[in-house]
Amino acid sequence: MKERKEVMGLTWLKMDLGIEMVSDTPGTVTNPSDINQWQANQLPHPLLGMEVTDKGIAMLEQYVAAVRDAVGMEIPLSMDHFGHLGVKSIIRLGKAYEKYNLSWMEDVIPWMYTDLLKQISDQSPTPILTGEDIYLKEPFRVLCESHAVSKIQPDLATAGGILETHKIGDLAEEHGIPMALHFAGTPISCMANVHCAAATRNFLALENHSLDVPWWQDLVNEIDKPIINRGYIAVPDTPGLGVTLNDDVMRQHLASGVGYFEPTPMWDTKQSFDDQLFS
Ligand SMILES: [Mg+2]
Repeated sequence: MKERKEVMGLTWLKMDLGIEMVSDTPGTVTNPSDINQWQANQLPHPLLGMEVTDKGIAMLEQYVAAVRDAVGMEIPLSMDHFGHLGVKSIIRLGKAYEKYNLSWMEDVIPWMYTDLLKQISDQSPTPILTGEDIYLKEPFRVLCESHAVSKIQPDLATAGGILETHKIGDLAEEHGIPMALHFAGTPISCMANVHCAAATRNFLALENHSLDVPWWQDLVNEIDKPIINRGYIAVPDTPGLGVTLNDDVMRQHLASGVGYFEPTPMWDTKQSFDDQLFS
């Protein structure tokens, strides 16, 4: 984290810190003994009866304290992947993390439990965020109108595209709620996010999962490199998204068994999987 701040020059940091980091230590989790990993992966968090203990909270807090020691208090720091914890455990963690001034705790329970998110938001001094698995604007309206979360984070590539994500941002703005953007993809989708973010007043930060992928920015041409420069991406003034495909590099990194611009009938069948329920 310190390197990302000081060497890369990032202006917002996010870390994963879940109960699995400490659950191997005795006394950190209260957990029904007959819940195994398979069952945990089949049921939403509130249905499992898993709660963190004081010892577990203290151990998790040590990680956050160490990160804040390394990066300081000035830079925004967000947190994700808490694990299958109950509502009260999340509230207790939110209180324990208060002194570290986290920007948000993300997807602490599945997004569709509006009332439970509202309960967490009302009682946790650490802000709550959700949105990366939500399709279209309407579910965001429910969350924003009830102020069940402090911040939202749609994924432009799955929420409905540039215009829909812009509408989601505008909707949240009306309720005084800022919008971060979830993103884990190619520079093409990244630039779609950049254009949307640049036109949305309540934009906070754009996620990126490819900071350690050396060929990521080589997938496109005709844009100034590095694309991410000291934590910022310049908005292109060239046509379209502002990038062109680098066909050679694209071909080098296709998924196995997939051709370049070949038909994709495997996507013709409607599929869905809500990661929120199980992660
Ligand atoms: Mg996430």
